[in-house]
Amino acid sequence: MIYDAQNQIRPPGHLAFSGPLRPDLVALPPFFRDGIGPTGQWDDEGGTTEQPHTVAGSELNYEQSPIIMSHFDIREFDSPDQPGSGVYMKIKFLEMLDAAREQAGIPFRVNSGYRTPTHNAAVGGVPDSAHTRGWAADIAARTLEQKMRIVRAARTVGFNRFGIYDTFVHLDCDPGKRADVAWNGKGYALARGGDFSGWGFDPFSV
Ligand SMILES: [Zn+2]
Repeated sequence: MIYDAQNQIRPPGHLAFSGPLRPDLVALPPFFRDGIGPTGQWDDEGGTTEQPHTVAGSELNYEQSPIIMSHFDIREFDSPDQPGSGVYMKIKFLEMLDAAREQAGIPFRVNSGYRTPTHNAAVGGVPDSAHTRGWAADIAARTLEQKMRIVRAARTVGFNRFGIYDTFVHLDCDPGKRADVAWNGKGYALARGGDFSGWGFDPFSV
């Protein structure tokens, strides 16, 4: 793994860097695995080719879901290959997302919520992606303003892991992964307090 002077982590093959290596960060493999998929690229989210999915009917019983959300239907979180699987989303996550949507005041379209391991692999997610455990969702966002509003609201309600991509924002509060980190579709990751100049905004202070 390669770091530059701002502790930005560069993907394999990206040799333009200057500054010391950071062995303290090297000892955090779950963080790296989250961002770097099997191809060696930062494709936890399946890249920008990931499309919103729709659910055509369902045989499964959504009444299992014990919470009522103001802004979402649990079916929006289904893995596209398993109708009904939205119920595998963590209740805490859904409550936080619903609260973030309320605060943001703009529509949250769920591009990807729960993923079966099969679907996760199909979209290029890493094997232990937070999506496979119901701790993450990707929210469509194309403008900088939309991304800022979504991330600001999400952080306010307790989200602490953010992926900033061209067409969506990944929101994540997986307790099994390193907190207070952000990564983007260009191959960079930073911890809170890092130098986010060039990212458009700092996810931890926006
Ligand atoms: Zn995601």
